[in-house]
Amino acid sequence: MALEFQQLIYERPAPHVARIVMNRPDKRNAQGIVMTVELEAALKHANHDPEVKVIILAGAGDHFSSGHDLSGTEPRAPSEAQSQSHWGDFDGPGWEGSYSREKELYYEITERWRNCPKPTIAEVQGSCIMGGNMLAWACDLIVCADDARFIDVCGDMAMPGLEWAGYAWELGPRKAKEWLFTGGALSAQDAERRGMVNHVVARAELSRLTLELAQRIAEKNRFALKLMKEAVNGVQDAAGRRQSMALAFALHQVGHMQNMLVSGLPIDVSKLAPAIQERMRARGVRTSQPDPA
Ligand code: ZN
Repeated sequence: MALEFQQLIYERPAPHVARIVMNRPDKRNAQGIVMTVELEAALKHANHDPEVKVIILAGAGDHFSSGHDLSGTEPRAPSEAQSQSHWGDFDGPGWEGSYSREKELYYEITERWRNCPKPTIAEVQGSCIMGGNMLAWACDLIVCADDARFIDVCGDMAMPGLEWAGYAWELGPRKAKEWLFTGGALSAQDAERRGMVNHVVARAELSRLTLELAQRIAEKNRFALKLMKEAVNGVQDAAGRRQSMALAFALHQVGHMQNMLVSGLPIDVSKLAPAIQERMRARGVRTSQPDPA
């Protein structure tokens, strides 16, 4: 079955391998509603296709992902038909709508992608910014180019971290805290040293070597691969990953609400690029907060 997407390319580059390419290179593959819904559909399709054993997630162009799309050019929330969970009420009063939206779009979807049965490999080049890290973390393996930079500036936005906060599970608590406290970019080499990525390869070799790795995995028994994944994921879950990330999500919401109370916007925009500041101030946030007067 050929799959057509607006913002993705769905490829079958080798037997038993599906390759999903985020295809918005002019926006550094920013992840808005359209891409999120399409990623969900593409991953579902690959997982349901009995011919596919391994899934690669890649980004077209020079950068893997610039994270969540803050441009405001797409609908703010998925439609009922597009929603995978039963949250809904995306325009609810106060913080309800935003909470429901973040729960559906960032927390539950990423958790579901992490738990999809087939092995997934993120193929990361250039910048992997903010929410882009959630996409890479949700994959089982990460192969990155030597020019990859994993960027987090949550502190600059007066936020405690991402919605699906894998930091400590990816880097260990000490390095995770340093990255969160100081922000900025983690190099490909640092990420590899900390165990966050499996391999760092030359940029020109990235796609070829990622596919080679996928093909090696695809030689193994399909059901055994699923069970291996579930067993190792289960180690993190038994150690409290799920609960700790649910707590981090709740703290993330506290961060948004604090920013709302202080500035009327869900993040502190004062350190962002002037164009983004202007756009976010103009757009504001949709709530039906009673007028304080
Ligand atoms: Zn958020």
